[in-house]
Amino acid sequence: MSKKQDKTQKAAIADLALDFSSGFKYEPAPESSSHVKLEKQYELFIDGKWVAPIDEKYFETTSPATEQVLSRIAEASAADVDKAVKAARNAYENVWSKISAKERGKYLFRIARIIQEKAREFAVIETMEGGKPIRESRDIDVPLAANHFFYYAGWADKLEYAFPGKKANSIGVAGQIIPWNFPLLMAAWKIAPALAAGNTVVLKPAETTSLTALKLAEVFQEAGLPAGVVNIVTGAGATGAAIVNHPDVNKIAFTGSTDVGKIIQKAIAGTNKKLTLELGGKAANIIFEDAAIDQAVEGIVNGIFFNQGHVCCAGSRLFVQEGVADKVIKKLKDRMKSLIVGDPMDKNTDIGAINSKEQLKKINDYLKIGVNEGAEIFQPACTLPKKGYFCAPTLFLHTSQSHRIVQEEIFGPVLAIQTFRTVEEVLEKANNTPYGLSAGVWTDKGSKIFNMTTKLKAGVVWANTYNKFDPASPFGGYKESGIGREGGLHGLLPYLSLS
Ligand code: NAP
Ligand code: MG
Repeated sequence: MSKKQDKTQKAAIADLALDFSSGFKYEPAPESSSHVKLEKQYELFIDGKWVAPIDEKYFETTSPATEQVLSRIAEASAADVDKAVKAARNAYENVWSKISAKERGKYLFRIARIIQEKAREFAVIETMEGGKPIRESRDIDVPLAANHFFYYAGWADKLEYAFPGKKANSIGVAGQIIPWNFPLLMAAWKIAPALAAGNTVVLKPAETTSLTALKLAEVFQEAGLPAGVVNIVTGAGATGAAIVNHPDVNKIAFTGSTDVGKIIQKAIAGTNKKLTLELGGKAANIIFEDAAIDQAVEGIVNGIFFNQGHVCCAGSRLFVQEGVADKVIKKLKDRMKSLIVGDPMDKNTDIGAINSKEQLKKINDYLKIGVNEGAEIFQPACTLPKKGYFCAPTLFLHTSQSHRIVQEEIFGPVLAIQTFRTVEEVLEKANNTPYGLSAGVWTDKGSKIFNMTTKLKAGVVWANTYNKFDPASPFGGYKESGIGREGGLHGLLPYLSLS
């Protein structure tokens, strides 16, 4: 190579390096919504039919990214809930508890396959109404929802093997109430084990995210699921309360905030209703000095910024061992600068829209609280869309155990960082919260992982990874994070009585 050629090549490489350091600019890559079919108005799904609410009340559902109205949704009163429970009871007594377990399994397999066929439509609707990036709805929420139906379809005719030496009896009508952060997936987590175990269902989705549950009702119709086996009643908190207080419901499964969980627990005290609660969290993500740092940084980013931090098991508290703290924080800040915040329908977007105006206000209030408490705030420079509800990824440095941003659930893309020196110190700090849903440990040493997993008071502990879900693996919390488990074999138990 001549000297001149060598010089030209070096200049080209230098140009490239310049390009890398200034970051890639992606062209917009919006997912199309032209294949999505949404009704102007949705009724209640009761006894296999679409029925208008008795009070003729409706509410609007909007896109949190564009603030456009997507559809009108029926608001179920206590009288509508009563109709739904009667339909579920009738289906339980006369159809679902009479057919063979193998038949039940067939319906569940069919539902799983139809979800797969309609995966693209489900993903787009989930993103339009919920605000989460299309990449997540497409690659996580929808496939996992289908997998839950597949998984529990397999159990339907094998309950005698699941609980050897016992007879597994269904319990009747299950009332299920779910939140807005994983609308379709939470519906799948609730409905699939209930049906596999032989029960019927009345389900209420969250007010801001009813659409994929209503689309699921269309799947049930297409699958030929007998009328009344699953009923979907949309509405606000009062609709949920009407399910909880209905005397003919045998089991309540609730996912949502700890405050509402406590109200529900009080409401059913003294009744025969079974109860599972999946509530809030304030997970600790712990990085030791011997961890693979780049991998850990990627895990932290996934743990808190995934789904805008609208994840009950989000790794919202970061504990870094002192020796690597500066390195981790620098890498974390650099990585945050490359995150794309914006249109959730764009396939490049990492952080989509906050689910509602109210939730955005709650997060922004916590940002102020953090600053007033004396923590140092870091947000990468990013232009947020003018319309819609968006929040930049945020770090809080120099926080301490007594800070509210360390103790309280923010449910947004906000990470509070503390450092530690010893295993004992980090265990004490990590466990010092009213919650106990999940945790993460990053280290090269297997023995350290086992030591930590036995001592961390959390239902799920991930090691050298974060936010991984599988239908075969049980999920649930300690302390104020909940009661009972969903997923896996454990997830069948709350829907059965063993004799
Ligand atoms: P939320 O207010 O507790 O709502 C959850 C569901 O309960 C919604 O469908 C809600 O209806 C309904 N509801 C409200 N008041 C009720 C009442 N008195 N009786 C019966 N039902 C009632 O929670 P959110 O703000 O929607 O969701 C965020 C919270 O859920 C966070 O705290 C998060 O940690 C938690 N979460 C936990 C898990 C888990 O697996 N542990 C998973 C996801 C979310 P409306 O939508 O009309 O309010
Ligand atoms: Mg709410």
